[in-house]
Amino acid sequence: MHKMRTPTLAEAHSGIPERLLHKATDAKGLIYDGKTVQDDIPLERGLPVPQGISKSAFLAAIDELRTLLGKEHVQLNDTQISNGWYMEHPNTHDMMPLLDSEEFIASAVVYPGSVDDVKIIVKWANKNLIPLFPISIGRNLGYGGSAPRVRGSVTIDLGRRMNRILNINADDFTCLVEPGVTFYALHEEIVRRGLEDKIWIDTPDLGGGSVVGNTLDRGVGYTPYGDHWACHSGLEVVLPSVGDDNEVPVFRTGMGALGVGGENTWQCFPYGFGPFSDGIFSQSNFGIVTKMGMTLMPNPGGHESFMYTFQNESDLAPLIEIIRPLRISNILENVAQLRHGLQTLSVKGQPRTKYYSGKGPMPPDIVSKHLRETKTGDCAWVYYGMSYGPQHIRAHKLALIDSEFQKIPGCKKIDPATLPADEYFWSRDKIASGTPDMEELKWVNWMPNGAHIAFSPVSPIRGPDAERLFALARKRHEEQGLDVMPAFCVGLREMHLIIEIVYDATDADMRKRAERCLRDMIDDAAAFGYGEYRTHLALMDQVAGTYNWNDNALMKFNNKIKDALDPNGILAPGRCGIWPKRYRNRGWELKGGETSSEGDGVAPVVGETKI
Ligand code: ADP
Repeated sequence: MHKMRTPTLAEAHSGIPERLLHKATDAKGLIYDGKTVQDDIPLERGLPVPQGISKSAFLAAIDELRTLLGKEHVQLNDTQISNGWYMEHPNTHDMMPLLDSEEFIASAVVYPGSVDDVKIIVKWANKNLIPLFPISIGRNLGYGGSAPRVRGSVTIDLGRRMNRILNINADDFTCLVEPGVTFYALHEEIVRRGLEDKIWIDTPDLGGGSVVGNTLDRGVGYTPYGDHWACHSGLEVVLPSVGDDNEVPVFRTGMGALGVGGENTWQCFPYGFGPFSDGIFSQSNFGIVTKMGMTLMPNPGGHESFMYTFQNESDLAPLIEIIRPLRISNILENVAQLRHGLQTLSVKGQPRTKYYSGKGPMPPDIVSKHLRETKTGDCAWVYYGMSYGPQHIRAHKLALIDSEFQKIPGCKKIDPATLPADEYFWSRDKIASGTPDMEELKWVNWMPNGAHIAFSPVSPIRGPDAERLFALARKRHEEQGLDVMPAFCVGLREMHLIIEIVYDATDADMRKRAERCLRDMIDDAAAFGYGEYRTHLALMDQVAGTYNWNDNALMKFNNKIKDALDPNGILAPGRCGIWPKRYRNRGWELKGGETSSEGDGVAPVVGETKI
C-alpha cells in the first residue's frame, strides 16, 4: 500500500482532491516511514461471527444477502486485517485500536446503492438477528474509525455507492447530500461549478470525513458556522425495524415530511411542524441516515488569519477570561483554536525521538529549546483565529482583539508575512476560510505506528474551568508517562477541550497506559461536573455512565426509544452506551480491564422474532 499513489476524487469517492495529492503523498510517506509492522495481518481468531448465531447460519445469511443485493456488494471479512492510513483506511475495524484489534471488528461489509437496498439490509438483519453498523466514510479516527462496537457486526458502508451531491443551492446557500460525500468532495464540486468565490463550506481539520457522519457525530469546523449539527437542516432516515405491513419505515424530518417531499424549504427550515425528531438520530443507534441537508456560508467579502503566542502555561486562565466576552459578542468570530506550544513541534510531522528520547512526558526545557528554533518561537500557548468581512470592518475587530490580548504580559502577535508557505498557520488559514486541507494529520508521526484517541470534555469559556481541566489532564498524563497536547476549540458559549493522546498502536503497554489515562480523566472531569461531547467506542459506556442525573433517567429514556424503534436490537448495539434489550444487563459495558468486549453474549430468542 505504501507504494501505491493515494486515489484521487476522480478515482474514488473517498479520494484526495488533485490539488492536495502532493500533500497526501508527503503525509503518507512520513506515516509509512514510522511504521514498523506490515499493514496486512492475518486474522488470529478467524471470521468474527456475531453472538447469537452459528457460523453456518451466519454464512447462509450472507449468501442470502448476496442474492438480494448482488454478490459484489457483500464482502466477508474472514482472512486478514488490513490497516492503512487516513486516506486509505479500512472499513472493517479501527486501525488505531485501543483494545485488541480483533475486538471491534466487522464480519462483513455491505455496500447499498440506494435507500431500497438499505431497507433490504434492515429486513435481512431483523430476520437473521444480525447486528448492523452504519458508516458513511468511516474516518472517525480517534473515536473508533469505522469499527463497530459489537464484534462481528455487518458494516453498512453507505458511502461507497451512495455519494451523490443531490443539490447545491447557490441562492439559499444550502446543499443536500448522501452519506458518502466528503468535505473534500463538496468543496471540489463548489469549485467545479465556479462558485468558490461565493460559497464556503465549514470543514473539520481534515476534509476526508463525510458531511453526514461528521455532523451526526456532532463534529466541528472552524468558520463562524463551526457547529455542524446546528447547521444541518433535514434528514432522511431508514428505521431499523420492520412494520406490521412488512415494510421498513423511511421518513424525512422537518419540512421534508410535507406530502410533496418539502423540497423547496427542507434545507431552509430545520423544524417543520411537531416534535423536532432530528436529535435522536445524532450520536445514537436509532436510525440510518440516507440524506442530509446542510447550510453553506456566503463568502464574507474578505478574511484575515491572525496568530498570537503566550509565554506561560499560567496565562491560560486570564487569557480564557479575555476570550469569553470577545467570543460571545462575535468579535472573535470563528471556532478558533488555542493550542499548547508542544503541538507546534508535533504538527511538523517529525517523530518525538527527533527532539527527545527519554521516558515520561517531554521536559518543558526541551520543548522550549526546540520551540525557540521555530518561526513561532518559544511559547506555552498559540491562538489561531480569523477575522471576516471587508478590510475596514476587520481592522476594527482586530484592533479590539489586539488591545485585549496584549493585556497578557509577553503576548506576541506573529506577523503572517514572516511565516513560510509550509507553516502550519497557513493550513488553519485555509480551513477557517472554507477550504479543506491535509496538514493536521502530521502529529500522528509523534510515535511510530502513530495512533490517536481523544479526551473531549466540554466546559464554559471560563479561566478556572480551563485551568482545572488542563491540570487534571496533566496529572493523569504524567502518571502514565504521556505527553499532554491540549487544544481548546472555543464555541459561542462553551469550549471543547480536545486532548489527543498519540500512542504506538503496536505497543500493548502504551495502549494500556493511554486507556488508563483516558478513563481516569473521564472520571476526574465528571467529578468536577464536566462531560465529554463525543468519545471513542471503547469509552462510550463510561462516558454515558457519567450522564447519570436522577438515577440514570436519560439512559432509561434512550433505552425506551431503542426498544420502540429497534425491538430486535440490530442497529449499532452499544453505540453511545445504548444497549438493546437482547444485550442489556449481560455485561457488555466496558469500564476498563475487561478481557472481552462481548459480555455474556445475547439473550436467547424466545418464540417468534419480529419478522
Ligand atoms: P466520517 O464519515 O466522518 O468518516 P463515520 O462514517 O465514521 O464518519 O461516522 C461517524 C459515526 O457516525 C459512525 O461510527 C456511525 O456510528 C455514525 N454514522 C455515520 N454515518 C451514519 C449514517 N448515515 N446513519 C447513521 N449513523 C451514521
